[in-house]
Amino acid sequence: MLCLHAHPDDEAMLTGELLAKADACGLRTVVVYGTRGEAGETEHDLGDETLGQRRAREALAACDRLGVDRVEFLDHVDSGMAGTDGNADPAAFSNAEPAAVAATLSELLADEALLAVVGYDANGTYGHPDHVQVNRVAAALAERLGVPWLLDATYNREDLASLPDGDGTLDPGFAAAEADLTHFVQGEDWFHAKMEAVKCHRSQAPRTEASKRRRRRGIDGWRRRFGTEWFIVRSPTGSTDLGPLADVLEPKADWPGPLVREGSPPG
Ligand SMILES: [Zn+2]
Repeated sequence: MLCLHAHPDDEAMLTGELLAKADACGLRTVVVYGTRGEAGETEHDLGDETLGQRRAREALAACDRLGVDRVEFLDHVDSGMAGTDGNADPAAFSNAEPAAVAATLSELLADEALLAVVGYDANGTYGHPDHVQVNRVAAALAERLGVPWLLDATYNREDLASLPDGDGTLDPGFAAAEADLTHFVQGEDWFHAKMEAVKCHRSQAPRTEASKRRRRRGIDGWRRRFGTEWFIVRSPTGSTDLGPLADVLEPKADWPGPLVREGSPPG
């Protein structure tokens, strides 16, 4: 199973549970990053490292925690958030021709027998140009190699909008509608592995008291918000047999509701 990601830390936030469970189910997993996330922000002292070097190191540690068998980085430039100057950089990941990136990937991964390619939904989860690019590249690669399964990692728009700090509005430009989701991964063990991987990305953690206060969520907040990983699963080759993926992915119809801490009252 190949997970294509835009930046270090996306593997944990969007597919941490998927990767941990796939590893436990015996699948070989590969993570490829389009960029090293060097346009991100940090409140930490990097010493003599660049942010890209630091984040690549953090990504390796996170992937190790998730049992990933192979990690690769493509040498594209981080495009930065939508609307920033980096979007216009010809070397930015988002400006590469998806078919050309798919060609590079198929050469790089020529010795892998891919059952599934995992990218993001068409909104790139939250509109970051590099995330939208992941959606295009994953589809181009799956088609080029005839990979049986293509998965969009995404969020459940309705569920997130319903949270106490959500405003209840459903932004069609954010992630995916619940009706379009097909499968999920959820479980206390997988959530634990995901959080261990999230913690590997120390350069992305708040350091000042002001930002700690702003981002304080608590483990139950993380569990409620990110404890379920959602996917849109389809087969470009018309395959109907998920094979070993059937042990990893559960159909949406079986969703028991958000992950809650054992023993805590429902709701
Ligand atoms: Zn990202």
